Amino acid sequence: MDKSIPPHGLPKEVVLNKLQEMKRDDVNFADGRVWSLVYQLDNEHSQFLKEAYNVFFSENGLNPMAFKSLKRMEHDVVQFAAKLLNGGEKAVGTMTSGGTESILLAVKTYRDIFRKSHDGFFKRLGGKSRLPEMILPESAHIAFNKAAHYFDVKIVYAPLDKDKMVDVQEVEKLITPNTMLIVGSAPSYPFGVIDPIAELGALAKQRKIPLHVDACLGGFLLPFIEKTGTKLPPFDFRVEGVTSMSADVHKYGYSAKGASVILYRNMEYLKHQFFVYSDWIGGIFASPALLGTRPGGSIAAAWATLQHFGIETYIKLTNELMQTVNTLQSEIRSIPELEILGTPHAAIFAITSKAENVDIYAIADQMEKKKWFINRQQKPQALNLMVSPVHKNIVNEFIADLKSAVDYVKLHPEAKNEGNAAMYGMMAKLPMKGMINNELIAMMENMYGTEGEMPHFEQDKKDIKTRLATLVIKAKETVDKLKK
Ligand SMILES: *Cc1c(COP(=O)(O)O)cnc(C)c1O
Repeated sequence: MDKSIPPHGLPKEVVLNKLQEMKRDDVNFADGRVWSLVYQLDNEHSQFLKEAYNVFFSENGLNPMAFKSLKRMEHDVVQFAAKLLNGGEKAVGTMTSGGTESILLAVKTYRDIFRKSHDGFFKRLGGKSRLPEMILPESAHIAFNKAAHYFDVKIVYAPLDKDKMVDVQEVEKLITPNTMLIVGSAPSYPFGVIDPIAELGALAKQRKIPLHVDACLGGFLLPFIEKTGTKLPPFDFRVEGVTSMSADVHKYGYSAKGASVILYRNMEYLKHQFFVYSDWIGGIFASPALLGTRPGGSIAAAWATLQHFGIETYIKLTNELMQTVNTLQSEIRSIPELEILGTPHAAIFAITSKAENVDIYAIADQMEKKKWFINRQQKPQALNLMVSPVHKNIVNEFIADLKSAVDYVKLHPEAKNEGNAAMYGMMAKLPMKGMINNELIAMMENMYGTEGEMPHFEQDKKDIKTRLATLVIKAKETVDKLKK
């Protein structure tokens, strides 16, 4: 197929129709079949977001001198978030394109602070020979892993306790003179559990180490859960040792994608996030965050949503959302084969199977057949449910399908050796992660290669299974060799 830009353009209507056609095979989020990725409220709100976004459709947040409006809105959104999270008088921050950017920036900031204050230390060690370390709960978001990879920071993982909170005593044991940052989540993405932020804060303060609370999910949700009268463990700047927080407006803030906030307790931290260069041919350059061009629309939509909803609507939405969550959770708890992991605090949680003969990935396959799109987790094998307002309408159908999936797998225990369940099961258990990573890179190479091939599990299943089986054999051989 010719992949060039068409020499003669097509009429607008034709192209727009093609776009609609393109969507046909996508997952359907608007009616609640998807349990991640889209934080859907309703069509009316989406329409409002589009209108707000469009007012600043072409504007660029790159140069705040040119678009003072965007700078003003960014300032407002940052300060709204700071007040919501009890940041006090001095809290400052910037808007970013999303949780990942907020986290990348936090890690970069603390790395630079560590480098500055350990100048002699690095010189003594000849520069790079020892990396600054950050202590992450095993449940921390993968964006920290990405940040460590990009910015040359070493990750030290702290284990979780039985409630899926990070074990603070273990965190303490992992502190070294190289520790540049401790991280906690409020709540964690895999389990929806708030880490013991108060204890982490006390530890961080005592040892004079910064503490970042990742509230990408919870930043615009936990404060409103509290305002509905539910008591939560402390998770924000009220805890003294907390030095920064990330909070996504494009998740439970219900704004358009491309909107998050990174907040610091004061300018002494934020100033290390900035990048300046005064000697560039293109002019004197100063940039607050990672991106160059920054879409004005996502800043405007975030500002507009917060203005339009106000605290009152957020509380109302949160109330309704948590009712849906509670119904789902109590229905799931009534299914004897299933279990909710840890003690989730918010609108996200993971379910696993506690019955020997019921494989959770086989349940996922059954749910997929009924057109539910649910993320599979590992360690332990589980399914992740991120609840949105739109799920209110499908609770009964979802639970009915879940129950019949459990019944099916009970009757067909061999289902765990078939289809995707077999593949994911094997991947989760393979000891040689390096080999899996190579397979994943190969898959990415196909997807982003000249053919742009999508992985097609139905067709490739046999192929992937054979390849994985070979990997298992290779892994065993390597282990045997190492033993000798
Ligand atoms: C979603 C999420 C992130 C990453 O945010 P993106 O907007 O997807 O880049 C980070 N941490 C947590 C806890 C999240 O849920």
